[in-house]
Amino acid sequence: MIKNNTLEVIKKHNLKLTKTLGQNFLNDDSVVKRIVSAAEIDGRTLVLEVGPGIGSMTKEMASIAAGVVAVEIDKHLIAALNDNLSEFSNIAIINSDIMKVDIEAIINEYKEKYNADRVKVVANLPYYITTPIIMKFLEEVKGIDGMVFMVQKEVAQRMVSKPGIKDYGALSVAVQFYSNPQIMFDVPPHCFIPQPEVHSTVIKLDILDEPPVKVNKELYFKLVKASFGQRRKTLVNGLANAGIFNKSKEQIKHILDSMGLNENVRGEVLSVEKFGELSNLMEQK
Ligand code: SAM
Repeated sequence: MIKNNTLEVIKKHNLKLTKTLGQNFLNDDSVVKRIVSAAEIDGRTLVLEVGPGIGSMTKEMASIAAGVVAVEIDKHLIAALNDNLSEFSNIAIINSDIMKVDIEAIINEYKEKYNADRVKVVANLPYYITTPIIMKFLEEVKGIDGMVFMVQKEVAQRMVSKPGIKDYGALSVAVQFYSNPQIMFDVPPHCFIPQPEVHSTVIKLDILDEPPVKVNKELYFKLVKASFGQRRKTLVNGLANAGIFNKSKEQIKHILDSMGLNENVRGEVLSVEKFGELSNLMEQK
């Protein structure tokens, strides 16, 4: 295992960490090791890391993987990163915002460069932008074999939540439409420099070959959004108000009835599959 030197690197390069960029760096070797092990990386794997920070996880992954390509937004960290990772020839650093890069183009380029045949995404995510980053990977990027993310504990719980459980919402449906999410382990604040105010959880997303339901994706996600957007409203009212499908309350009640659902049902009891059934019925003339 590679020895952690977070504090040393921060001091050596006189780094000022930026709270607004979610810069809480891991300072615990055993947590780094457990994240890397959860990602199931081998010598044929290209790892795409979001936000390497000063490279604590990057190093550990590069010692096992075919190669690591890491996208870091903060230009002030690049010199420290290059210095800290100088002993590795299979790491590429890209100084960019992950939301603005062409991820598929990066994957294809570095898969070829490092002669890798599978791709894992691993990140201790900046918490201010966790959901947009995860959704970008799930919705827009093909060719990823698995993802392991450290996120805020509450967000992990929302991602794995099932219908009828408190945290179930649009994020649960979206994540479970594309993947099988599993909670791996929790990480307390004292494992980071500086310590965050929240607890963290490592979550693994196994990408599904096919979504669990065949739907018109655009309409499906509009329907899911409308169903959870107005939580205190019944599904009938929420959907009639959203006006996505041009259906009257009576027509919506009729559709719910044909699915064996009561007219007072709320969105939070519908599974990913039931939302699919509803979306397909609502789409019919
Ligand atoms: N991986 C390091 C670790 O575990 O110690 C750092 C993790 S820190 C929670 C999040 C990192 O993401 C920071 O280095 C931050 O600068 C970077 N970051 C924040 N927003 C980003 C973005 N939009 N694109 C790429 N990197 C970003």
